[in-house]
Amino acid sequence: MTERKLRDEIRASALAAGFYMGGETLAIDFVDTIKLKANPVLDYFDNEELYREFWRIQRPVLPAGAVSEGVAPDREQAKQLRFAIRTLFEDALNASALDRSSLDVVNGFALRAASVPQLDATGHSRETVTGGGDALLGAVARSAIETVADFRACIRHCESERCSMMFFSASGHRAWCSATCGNRVRVARFAAQRSREADQRTS
Ligand SMILES: [Zn+2]
Repeated sequence: MTERKLRDEIRASALAAGFYMGGETLAIDFVDTIKLKANPVLDYFDNEELYREFWRIQRPVLPAGAVSEGVAPDREQAKQLRFAIRTLFEDALNASALDRSSLDVVNGFALRAASVPQLDATGHSRETVTGGGDALLGAVARSAIETVADFRACIRHCESERCSMMFFSASGHRAWCSATCGNRVRVARFAAQRSREADQRTS
């Protein structure tokens, strides 16, 4: 399966499950599990069922050895990592120096997903990480490191003022996280334009 098709499938599963976003990089999808500009803030990880669903949906991009049925990482640690990754993404987006303590958190989690070669019966070597929740958070940290180190220029914020979602734009031309946000902004702009025109007619 191509990378693009895989991302599309993850996106479709995430939307079907009730998430707002999906199918960016693993670390960006992870960061997008909280709507910071919703009032009140909507944290999808506060819902145990959705939290577990996140790991099921991302399974195709998680290291095989790290995934075992029903195992999800500690939720508070996941939230701590998510906050640190968002901070690094914001810094990268603003071309600021990367926040030291967030770097320590992300680098620390990445250490948990160290992989080792394992030889199979056919004589092939396969990189394998040990199972459990730690390796899953480690995989997210690794994805965050790759995203900042290799694709810093592709990290974007949704241009809707009411949206905190981030996304991956390879071309740099994408302005909105989703069609929903794009339509909302276009409708608002159109309404503002109409009201300006109406003002001009009456004044
Ligand atoms: Zn948006």
